[in-house]
Amino acid sequence: MKSTEYMIIGGGPTGLGAAHRLDELGHNDWVLVEKAQNLGGLASSVVDDQGFIWDLGGHVLFSHYNYFDNLLDDLLGENWFEHEREAWIWMRNQWIPYPFQSNMWRLPQADLEKCLLGLESINENKISTVGMNFDEWIVDSFGEGIADVFMRPYNYKVWAYPTRELAANWTGERVATIDKDEVLKNIKDKSDLKSWGPNAVFRFPKEGGTGSIWNALGSRLPKDKIILDTEIREIEPIEQIAVCENGQQFRYEKLITTVPLPLFIKKLRGKIGESFSKDKLEKFKWSSTHVIGIGIEGVTPAQLRSKCWMYFPEDNVPFYRATVFSNYSPENVPRPGEQWSLMCEVSESSMKKVDHAHIIGDTIDGLYSTGILPDDANLVSTWSRFLPFGYPTPFLGRDEILKDFIPRLEDVNIFSRGRFGGWKYEVSNQDHSLMQGVELVNALLLGEKEETYWNPTAVNNR
Ligand SMILES: Cc1cc2nc3c(=O)[nH]c(=O)nc-3n(C[C@H](O)[C@H](O)[C@H](O)COP(=O)(O)OP(=O)(O)OC[C@H]3O[C@@H](n4cnc5c(N)ncnc54)[C@H](O)[C@@H]3O)c2cc1C
Repeated sequence: MKSTEYMIIGGGPTGLGAAHRLDELGHNDWVLVEKAQNLGGLASSVVDDQGFIWDLGGHVLFSHYNYFDNLLDDLLGENWFEHEREAWIWMRNQWIPYPFQSNMWRLPQADLEKCLLGLESINENKISTVGMNFDEWIVDSFGEGIADVFMRPYNYKVWAYPTRELAANWTGERVATIDKDEVLKNIKDKSDLKSWGPNAVFRFPKEGGTGSIWNALGSRLPKDKIILDTEIREIEPIEQIAVCENGQQFRYEKLITTVPLPLFIKKLRGKIGESFSKDKLEKFKWSSTHVIGIGIEGVTPAQLRSKCWMYFPEDNVPFYRATVFSNYSPENVPRPGEQWSLMCEVSESSMKKVDHAHIIGDTIDGLYSTGILPDDANLVSTWSRFLPFGYPTPFLGRDEILKDFIPRLEDVNIFSRGRFGGWKYEVSNQDHSLMQGVELVNALLLGEKEETYWNPTAVNNR
């Protein structure tokens, strides 16, 4: 049996962040075990049979941290594009600039009137989301009209749960709220407001997709400490032993895990595993994501040339978002300038079923029916990937369960962090995830406070 001081499960941004920080601090008694054959986790990229590059869903980079920015600069040097976000919403057979609530003047009259009526009752001074579900928060913040016309259908498509099933306390910077006077002025002037929020400008690697970042970080780490293609099957928490599917065992002093939290808890053997409430474990909600990539011969159609991504709140197409992926980097297609590519995302959950056998065909039909694919489009590649864990749903009661589970794991030297390890959607992007790994190591080695995981609002308000 091998022994290690720090064992990291998962080579996504969180696990790599922890490994990088250990290495940076000159600490060399650690090992990282990853079940896939490559690093990057959900932030990795794939080259399909025809040579098109795909991310696992539309990934764009924006950051709340100097540390993260400096690391990215260092990893890829000049190898970045910077893009201005151009996001659109397709509804009522037309394009509306994102965010919806700032650009409602484009709606058909009946929808616009409904939204305006609802605005009369909104509570602009509300600051607390405590105890609210997401639906209540939407109605309170935007009124019944916007809730019905856009927020409920759109959020159901993204989250795969009705809005009343989600808590409201994650919304912070993730949902644009409303300035009533500005909205009314936009409607009167018929003016668009396109930039809102932290990702109005974003960067993207020139080559290799989002995954190139994490490959670059992985290649800097000592090779003998990274073990790929090896899945952790179970944990003996009292003896502090991790057992792999291939029978290999590791005795650890501290375990950093990025495995989806309820799955990880089920891997704990003995009394400690049994001590986690089954009722609470069953409360976890998440959604899966189907990512469908379409490679097309020819030049990008004029109407898509400057668009980054598009949202689809209506149920006439299966996807909630389509990204013009070749606009992020010309190198995302095998013959730049002669081909282009689209990447669509479809959500799925126990409350929103998807027909797996037909999802690619249904997606292509939807791209034609909305005019995104021209009638004469020559499709040369079709690729898809099913992500069983796509979005960590901020379900009702989540924080109380996390406040129970996470410290109890820490009592036995297990630290669960990252998108699904920590289960806080509001701090689950790549920057947050890497920093969760870095801050955890800073806490364990240097006694510093972890800000991202325990204080998401402060981090996101920076
Ligand atoms: C559809 C979609 C869109 C996104 N868009 C953006 C975006 O625009 N911008 C952004 O910054 N972020 C985005 N993200 C989030 C980004 O992918 C995450 O921030 C990041 O990947 C989380 O890193 P992580 O290490 O916490 O988890 P993961 O990336 O999930 O990594 C966990 C790793 O653990 C491994 N693992 C699991 N179980 C075991 C086991 N038993 N044994 C060994 N290894 C195991 C997995 O194989 C995986 O590699 C998006 C994610 C999705 C799904």
